[in-house]
Amino acid sequence: MYANVIIDISHEKVDKAFQYQIPDALRDEIQVGVQVRIPFGKGNHERKGYVVELTDQAEYDETRIKEVIGVVTGSISAESKLIRLAWWMKERYGSTMNQALKTVLPVKQKVRQKENRFLVCRIGEAELKAAVSESEKKGYKARERLLKAFLDTPVIPYSVAAGQMNLTMASIKPMIEKQIISLESETIYRNPEVHGTLQKTSVKLNSEQSAVVHDFVDRYERGIRKTTLIYGVTGSGKTEVYLEMINHVLNREKQVIVLIPEIALTYQTVLRFYRRFGSMVSIINSRMSAGERYDQFERARAAEVKIMIGPRSALFTPFPSLGLIIIDEEHESAYKSELSPRYHARETAEKLAEMNQASLVLGSATPSLEAYTKALHREYCLYRLTKRAGKDSHMARVQVVDLREELKNGNRSIFSEALKNAMNDRLENGQQIMLFLNRRGYSSFVSCRSCGEAFKCPHCDVTLTLHHGNWLKCHYCGYEIPLPDKCPCCGSPYIAGFGTGTQKIETMTKKMFPQSRVLRMDLDTTSKKGGHEEILSAFAEREADILVGTQMIVKGHDFPNVTLVGVLAADLSLHSSDFRCGERTFQLLTQAAGRAGRGQMAGDVIIQTYTPEHYSIVCAASQDYESFYYKEMAYRQALHYPPVTQLLSVLMSGKDEDLLNQAVEQMHSQVLAYVWEKPVEIIGPAEAAVYKVNDIYRKILYLKQENYGILITIKDKLESFSRAAPWFSHVNIQYDFA
Ligand code: ADP
Ligand code: ZN
Ligand code: ZN
Repeated sequence: MYANVIIDISHEKVDKAFQYQIPDALRDEIQVGVQVRIPFGKGNHERKGYVVELTDQAEYDETRIKEVIGVVTGSISAESKLIRLAWWMKERYGSTMNQALKTVLPVKQKVRQKENRFLVCRIGEAELKAAVSESEKKGYKARERLLKAFLDTPVIPYSVAAGQMNLTMASIKPMIEKQIISLESETIYRNPEVHGTLQKTSVKLNSEQSAVVHDFVDRYERGIRKTTLIYGVTGSGKTEVYLEMINHVLNREKQVIVLIPEIALTYQTVLRFYRRFGSMVSIINSRMSAGERYDQFERARAAEVKIMIGPRSALFTPFPSLGLIIIDEEHESAYKSELSPRYHARETAEKLAEMNQASLVLGSATPSLEAYTKALHREYCLYRLTKRAGKDSHMARVQVVDLREELKNGNRSIFSEALKNAMNDRLENGQQIMLFLNRRGYSSFVSCRSCGEAFKCPHCDVTLTLHHGNWLKCHYCGYEIPLPDKCPCCGSPYIAGFGTGTQKIETMTKKMFPQSRVLRMDLDTTSKKGGHEEILSAFAEREADILVGTQMIVKGHDFPNVTLVGVLAADLSLHSSDFRCGERTFQLLTQAAGRAGRGQMAGDVIIQTYTPEHYSIVCAASQDYESFYYKEMAYRQALHYPPVTQLLSVLMSGKDEDLLNQAVEQMHSQVLAYVWEKPVEIIGPAEAAVYKVNDIYRKILYLKQENYGILITIKDKLESFSRAAPWFSHVNIQYDFA
């Protein structure tokens, strides 16, 4: 037996593992993740390293492979655990150990040791209020945003002000000069005066909330680590519950990881954690440089920070003594990685929690079918928060409009009569409106009206999308050309766009309601740094009456003045090749409904659709998760989809179509041979939903089985088969457990 060992625990060293022999005496002790002592280099100096893989294959002449000296004893380090986690991910999801290690280990990159700096408010409340209204009058939006935040908390991390709040140094400086605020180094937090002003207690929890916290604390103290699912309607106070749980775990000298989908990681959310826990909180996001992330991870390793908040990669924070992982909006698809290993943060967190004897808490207003099924089977503890917690907030009234009826009545516009009337009403009363569309771009595609030819990307099997009225873009590879004035096939000048995108909605809204101010938020308008916050805060500050957007606008934000949410075409997310599209549609509509009526005024939601009878729409309209769950489960049962059965997809791709076909055939026969032993449902092989992307052809094979272990075995067999066949070097294979 041999152990592959990396000397230095970092992303870059993963490719440079050294092989050592394992002496018989150490065979039982040496496992993946264990720290060992080894002779290193010409002088055979003793060094420490981590075992990342065990193998019976010698990489070179056996006699020249040195022996492991011994195992480092003592407590298991965070690194050991991360390496073991990487091993588990490799086995569970199918990838190489290198890919798995690169996913969990930080990119080691020295940044100029950036000091953590904080903005501190230096004036009293009355003065502060005066300063807020002065900025308001002068139209200094960014300053107003910051000063308002100081009304809640005396200290704001500079990184949050410059990051999520989008302030520039130029707008901060004048306030420092006027001694309204000061910029302080880290030591400020050791100053007890500032400490005293941190909000030590939060709101008084209502009975539903305190029942969850009480039970959690009770189980935690008794050492019970069963996963908790909090199913709480939007605004039911889940975040307040998390804060109490975190508080308890911190008191036990443990650390906490909080996952929040990037899109919901706004400064309002972040500040709630800062207000409560101050400099113990750290945040990572995908816009940070590798060096900045490394810096945050180092601070976590030293337990200088005790709470890490971030998107799914925050899971790999090397805390010395992890006690709790919270996953907010547990159902979000962003928790599944699109890169190999294609891990799901929920499952990986479960494993990580188990390795650390930590607790895992999941929260959602629309739990994933996976999580809710486990909760019903009592694998998870289930808690329900059934009402909105804030004062004066109500659940919205929901109305479904049948677009087929509108058409019959001669209304060809994108606004139904009901929506038009409601919008006019809100505009007259100075209230705000959100219009939601689950798609981006101007029109979905452009085609010739004479010959019917649709304009396609030459590199991908998709139609091009029209942007700004005169550019055609491919959303898969980025290819773009100006809109031709004649059809390239028949020369006809009659070319037209079909379908409706956010830009088009914006234009039509302006046309229909010329007196209104309209803002648009989608991938195009938010691609620049801070664009997202800029638009949301402009809307929050009532610089617009109507916000048009994609699913980005339905996440996480509280707009007390929004009393109408219009979903323009609920069907758009309903028809797709993904078996989860019904679930996604339900989630999106429920979330959209949750945006209306967050303030003192009741809200209305109007859902326009061509299929008002579809259960995803019916159940979202009645805000009835339970009914949706049972209907959707019946569908999964009938068609054998997860969570009823397990689904493994094998995606094979290559530039050479013939080689690809050969590979696909061989893989298929491998599976067929295995299926003699175990019944596995096979679908395909077939062309992927988009067959060609960027000149690469893609084929897919689906395997279904209730027993996860059987699918893993097949995956392992396929992996070793393809590794041994030389022509597979031209074909890329990706495994994905749905
Ligand atoms: P969720 O995370 O479930 O969407 P939040 O924790 O954001 O809900 O709470 C929604 C609003 O209700 C927030 O403004 C919060 O401050 C308020 N809130 C939560 N719990 C309480 C409570 N027990 N009493 C009063 N207000 C509360
Ligand atoms: Zn034509
Ligand atoms: Zn393309």
